[in-house]
Formats: sequence, C-alpha cells, structure tokens
Amino acid sequence: MIVEILCVGTEILLGNIVNTNAKFLSEELANLGLSVFFQTVVGDNPERLESALDIALNRSDIVITTGGLGPTQDDLTKEIIAKAMGKKLVENAKAKEMLEERLHSFRLVITENNYKQAFLPEGATPLYNNHGTAPGAIVENNGKRVIMLPGPPSEMTLMFKESVLPYLKTLSDDVIVSRTVKMIGIGESTMASMADDLINSENPTVAPYAKPFESQLRVTAKAKSEAEALGLIEPMVDKIKERFEDYIYSYDVDESLEAAVVKLLKANKLHIACAESCTGGMLASTIINVPGSSDIINESFVTYSNEAKEKRLGVPHDILEKYGAVSEEVASKMAEGVALVSAADIGIGITGIAGPDGGTKDKPVGLVYIGLYYKGNTVVKKLTRKGNRLTIRQGTVMTALDMIRRAVG
Ligand code: ATP
Repeated sequence: MIVEILCVGTEILLGNIVNTNAKFLSEELANLGLSVFFQTVVGDNPERLESALDIALNRSDIVITTGGLGPTQDDLTKEIIAKAMGKKLVENAKAKEMLEERLHSFRLVITENNYKQAFLPEGATPLYNNHGTAPGAIVENNGKRVIMLPGPPSEMTLMFKESVLPYLKTLSDDVIVSRTVKMIGIGESTMASMADDLINSENPTVAPYAKPFESQLRVTAKAKSEAEALGLIEPMVDKIKERFEDYIYSYDVDESLEAAVVKLLKANKLHIACAESCTGGMLASTIINVPGSSDIINESFVTYSNEAKEKRLGVPHDILEKYGAVSEEVASKMAEGVALVSAADIGIGITGIAGPDGGTKDKPVGLVYIGLYYKGNTVVKKLTRKGNRLTIRQGTVMTALDMIRRAVG
C-alpha cells in the first residue's frame, strides 16, 4: 500500500516552521511497513491544495493530510477533500458529540461557528482530538483513503497514536515488528558500510538511522504473527551483534545511553563521581536525569578554574603550571582526585576548550581530555571535536558515558 503525506501550511513553505509532522509520520509509517513514496507540502491555497490532493490520490492509496483543520480554514480544506473523494460535506453526529465534549472540557462557550468543525465528508469516521477541539477524520471511497489530521504536532501525534495507528493495522493481516540496535562511538556511514550486505535484505529489512551522537540499525519483519516476526528478526540481530558488539549499548529503542550506563553501574554496585570543567556539570546532570541515579552518584564537582581544580580535587599546582589546565595530565589527576575525595569507584575528569574563544594553534577549540579512573587505573581520551560550544560539550558527555560503559562492561 502506497502512502503519501500531504502537509498543508504556508508557514512550512516560507521556512517559518520545520515540517516535523512529516518526519513523525514517515517514521511511524515505516515502522508499520507501509511505503511512503511522496511527501508533499502545499500552502493554504484552495486551488493548489485541490491539485496537490488530486495528484496524491492518483498515485497513492492512502493520503494523510496535516493542518488546515482550524476554524478559519477548516471549511476549505474539508470541502476540497470531500470533493476530491466524491463526497458531500455534511454534519457528522459523532463529530458533533466529540466537539461538544471537547469544548465543554476547555470550558469554552459553543458558538455557531464552532459547529462548522463537526462537518465532515459524508460517511467519514471522525477521530477524537485529545489535545484540541477539531476532530480529524478518515474518508474512504473506491479503495482510496484520506486521513485528515490537525496541524499542531501535539494534537497530530496523539491522534495518530490513538486512532490512526490501530486503523492502519486493520488494513493488513500482517504483523510488523521492529527491533532497534543502538550504537555509540561509530558514525552512521561507517556503520552503514559495515552493514551493507544486511541493509540489502528484504524480510527482515535493516535500516540505518543517524541520531545526534549515535547510530542505529532498525530491523523490521513482517509476518502472520508476532512470534513468527521475532523468529525472522532474532538471527539478524545476532549477526549485527557479532559485527558491532563493541559499539552496541542497547536493544531497546527507548533506552538512552545514560539510562544504560546507570543500569550497568547499578548492576555492578558501583559509584561514580564527576569533576567537570568545560562541561560545567552536564555529565552529572545527564546521569541524574535518569530516575534512580541516587544509587550510583553521591556528589560531583564543577571545577572551572585552576584554583578549584587544586582546592577541590587536589590537582598538583606544578602539573597545572607545567601542562596547562587542558591537558592529558590534568584530566587524569582530576579523575583520580574526584574518585578519592568522593570515595567513588569511578572518577571522571573533563577538561577542554568549548569555544568559541580561548583556542590556540596547539590547543584549538574542540580539544577535550576525558580522564577515567577505575580499579587503580586511569585512562585519558583526547577528543578533537568540531562544532559549537553546545555540541562540543554534548559530544563530550556522550563520549564520557561511552568510556564508562566500556570500562565497566
Ligand atoms: P489550528 O486549529 O490550531 O489552526 P490546524 O489543523 O488548522 O490547527 P494549522 O493552522 O495548519 O493547523 O497549523 C497550526 C500550527 O501547527 C502551526 O502554526 C504550526 O505551529 C503547527 N504545524 C502545522 N503543520 C505543521 C507541520 N507540518 N509540522 C510542524 N508543525 C506544524
């Protein structure tokens, strides 16, 4: 079944907003094993919307629209969709009920104008809007389907998950199951080229994804039952594991790197303490974002100045003088010092130049040293990252988490 996403909104065409609705829908539809061959954007213009819709219905089986359902433009959009589907626009009793319930819950006085939102193409199934008032709708005719969703992402995503997903699942007898292998420390292109032969497979399919600071391979199988789909997925996941074991930190799509690290430290009954300069507490904060992190972290330090590094962590004055604050030697002393003063099993020391100023020829912006002390050994990793102040700091945090995972795992 071919699906087309048709986003309505002049703001998208002008570049005022990013089309996150299309991104969300494409990902969800790919997870369902549905082929999205086209994404179209059209402004709030009736003639152009009509023509975009005609083209979409000609080349696709399902057209999912977002936007243009608000009280100002709704008549227009719905009228055009009704016309394209060969239907009349009529008041829909169920949509009216939904609308009244939503307006009451928002304590809004219902005006005649509001009732326009209860008009849908004849025979349409209204979709409940848990975050707003305008109902969405599914319209079917001659094997073609249009699914109308609201523009605001919070309304659209909830309506999709609550109503559209179950509907789309009924269109196929097959079950689609996915597993995501999450990796850190390997770029998407290296990962994709190492998995080239796997990416060409058909059922299950293997798709590479690049996320900020990490790479993923998603394995998706289509079968008559979940058990059968899992039977197709598992051998492929095993192959991926064999090839990428070092880089894999999770097989759970919802598990973040920090959550995986906290889980690992908890399982090994280890405590960590961080001494951060250029990341300014970002590593400790990222770890503390994970519920239950109090089991693995008691304290951490932001030691920005040389004086703080000496006073709080006991970094020797002569080492700071001799090598400079941004150096392998200082990162190593920071890691050892923080482990000692905090009585932690693992000590992390981070020192670097996040920019935009402060770089020199020898020590450019993006140069960061991460020290890790564990079981009497200290290792230091040197990073030379490109990017701005924020991305350099974020990348450093991810690398530090990766170092912890590798040291303990
Ligand atoms: P409303 O009743 O709020 O007017 P609507 O269904 O008519 O909803 P639009 O008016 O088209 O939707 O869009 C409302 C807002 O939703 C936009 O201002 C924008 O912030 C957001 N939005 C719309 N389309 C998209 C999109 N494709 N991607 C991301 N955000 C979007």
